[in-house]
Amino acid sequence: MVITEKQVAEKINKLKKEKNAVILAHYYQRPEIQDIADYIGDSLELSRKAQQTDADIIVFCGVRFMAETAKILNPDKKVLHPNPESGCPMADMATVEGVLRLKKEHPDAVVVSYINTNADVKAVSDIIVTSRNAVKVVKSLHAKKIIFVPDQFLGSFVAKQIPEKEFILWKGFCPPHFNLSAKELLALKEKYPDAKIAVHPECNTDTAEIADFVGSTTQIIEYATTCEADTVIIGTEVGIEYALKKKNPNKKYIFPQAAEYCGVVHCCDMKKNTLDKVLQVLEEENNEIILDKELMEKARIPLEKMLSIS
Ligand code: SF4
Repeated sequence: MVITEKQVAEKINKLKKEKNAVILAHYYQRPEIQDIADYIGDSLELSRKAQQTDADIIVFCGVRFMAETAKILNPDKKVLHPNPESGCPMADMATVEGVLRLKKEHPDAVVVSYINTNADVKAVSDIIVTSRNAVKVVKSLHAKKIIFVPDQFLGSFVAKQIPEKEFILWKGFCPPHFNLSAKELLALKEKYPDAKIAVHPECNTDTAEIADFVGSTTQIIEYATTCEADTVIIGTEVGIEYALKKKNPNKKYIFPQAAEYCGVVHCCDMKKNTLDKVLQVLEEENNEIILDKELMEKARIPLEKMLSIS
């Protein structure tokens, strides 16, 4: 028997109560998942929620490194990931061997890893940052030399604001954000001259340079829904359109088409979680995030350092 989306959502809500489960969802998740989530947020907010929750089960609707982070921060909880195939291509670009090699070459440097890294890379990092707190966290460090992993564009954005430090940038990038070029944004600006441009720091440097605002997902939502402009050109993943329209439906939000990419900025991995898969993990309690205890202990140190600063 085929059941409707509404019925699936009702089943999820019932199971959530019965099993004392909490659903955490990133802003890039499908609208129907955002609707059944207990908390929606960016990486920083969701990390805090994962650390503080007293639920027995955390269902993490995001990509794998996010579900891993929830487990690392709250290891006694059962963390379920609706689709284990949902990974982050940028996180997979960084390797432990590469980070250790850089550490050896630059013994006076501190390894700052973006939260978009896998657990093993976090475990060899000195501190973690998110796109929201990266500048603040790096500024607070005494070290003059920073190895920044894995996003070269977030790293460049941070380096620009902290010229007194030297940055060694890992050459990783987010494929969906990378494909958005300044050319597409400028063409839209010509069409909508009064519009403001807000982009994520994962966008390439040329794109970030022409933006009126560069910030994390939550910061973009705050800026776009409250700035004086009626039209805002949004340079990040299209999933946030749902939150933007909910928060301020009176504005026009334009998601540029990235020419090379033949579409708007869209993360296929984030969309691999579906309502059916959320229901399935709640029913079967499968797809649990299992990590080595020692690895989790090592990875928790740089994460907690970040949370204490931000
Ligand atoms: S949007 Fe980019 S950084 Fe975020 S999960 Fe997708 S590929 Fe990774």
